[in-house]
Amino acid sequence: MNAPSETLDLVGVGIGPANLSLAALLHGNDRVTKTFVERRKAFEWHAGIMVPDAQMQVHFLKDLVTPVDPTNPFTFLAFAVEARRLYRLLITGRSRVPRKEFEQYCRWAADRVEDLRFGVAVEHVEWDGSAFVVYTDDGSIRARNIVTGTGLVPRMPECAKGHDPEQVFHTSQMLDIPRDLSRRRVAVIGGGQSGAEIVHYLLGSEARRPTRIVWGSRRPNLFPLDNSPFVEEHFLPNYSRHFHAQPADRRDLLNEQQRMSSDGVSVELLRAVYRRLYDLELLEGVERPCEVMVDHQLLGIERDRGGLLTTWRAGSGESVHKQVDVIICATGYRRGLPAVLEGMRHRLPQPDEFGVRADFSLDWDGPPDNRIYVQNAARRHFGVADPNLSLLAWRSAVIANSLLGHRRYDTDVVSGAVAWSFAEERRPAGAAGA
Ligand SMILES: Cc1cc2nc3c(=O)[nH]c(=O)nc-3n(C[C@H](O)[C@H](O)[C@H](O)COP(=O)(O)OP(=O)(O)OC[C@H]3O[C@@H](n4cnc5c(N)ncnc54)[C@H](O)[C@@H]3O)c2cc1C
Repeated sequence: MNAPSETLDLVGVGIGPANLSLAALLHGNDRVTKTFVERRKAFEWHAGIMVPDAQMQVHFLKDLVTPVDPTNPFTFLAFAVEARRLYRLLITGRSRVPRKEFEQYCRWAADRVEDLRFGVAVEHVEWDGSAFVVYTDDGSIRARNIVTGTGLVPRMPECAKGHDPEQVFHTSQMLDIPRDLSRRRVAVIGGGQSGAEIVHYLLGSEARRPTRIVWGSRRPNLFPLDNSPFVEEHFLPNYSRHFHAQPADRRDLLNEQQRMSSDGVSVELLRAVYRRLYDLELLEGVERPCEVMVDHQLLGIERDRGGLLTTWRAGSGESVHKQVDVIICATGYRRGLPAVLEGMRHRLPQPDEFGVRADFSLDWDGPPDNRIYVQNAARRHFGVADPNLSLLAWRSAVIANSLLGHRRYDTDVVSGAVAWSFAEERRPAGAAGA
């Protein structure tokens, strides 16, 4: 740890793809003193749900740096060349690589990017009157600016809390320990990408397949991720800027309307699950390999002699009960102020809602030159692209420019097919009705 008297320009909390991207953009810049700390011993990317066959949902060129600086040494292409796999990657014809490969790439970058420290957990952050003090389990660090990249917190339904974690757990813990679910009855809660990945995984091999799978979702169907061309423009810097400029209630409405461009299931995966069910049921004669219960909300879990009794309310209003042994909650992640910033909440003008500026720094009542940047904590302010990898490099570049105080990276908006704002098109002077 640095000497207590030393004050760094930046401390990054958490090293997931978000802060790794920022660290890669600041790599080699001797004018900025910095350190990024991560509680895990080495880089890992959602290891608890790294099921075989899991695919990325974005193009591999939307990596840590390429969209803002293709000459940076930590591009996905540089990794593929160094790993001597570029030619073969091209032969696969893939534009979206397996998630395992994206993790390998990030690990490769994490081994090379400077100023990263693993195995250091941040406990909380305070402002001591002239700098931030980042308290860790290995001493404290003073910094003029901080950036959180601590990710999101797994969300469990209320009724799933307080049970035996061997029996009721979140998808993010699925592979944390070896689990033999064959000969068990399993309920998967949630009809998004993670739920579909788990169901696909469970159905994937005879040896792994549970005796019963109940797959429930409160959504009226299993809806696809909408990544059609015009919708994809929600993942452009232009749109992010436009979104940020809208009033809060309109942003909330847009986030709701655009949910399926972020929270749906990739069509390839839906098709793979459907085909697997077809083959099992109609070719191999397996009776009901999976009970797909859309429009059903899980209301309760009771332990009884037969295992776990789940109670669901159907859209029609009727109650449905299913007996299972294990419940896997694919119920997404909670958003909000990063936990390490709880101690700073009283310094935020809107403590409940918290405001995020255009440079991804929080509105707070301290000196304007000392900033608290947040990565992946501002979907409410920047829209569905915020938790996604599409604008990862762009957001890091915006933060880097703000930190450096000059335009190191070109973060200007690129052109889009959709005109999100017509504000510049004023009625010409003298036009009829002017
Ligand atoms: C299973 C899954 C698959 C996804 N796939 C895609 C995809 O294909 N395409 C896409 O665009 N988006 C995807 N996403 C969404 C998003 O891109 C990822 O969640 C991405 O990992 C976000 O990066 P992050 O750095 O913000 O957070 P994370 O990857 O969650 O990293 C946060 C890091 O902070 C560390 N940390 C937390 N608290 C502390 C602390 N107090 N002290 C020190 N370290 C701490 C954690 O250990 C962790 O390593 C996926 C999300 C999930 C859950």
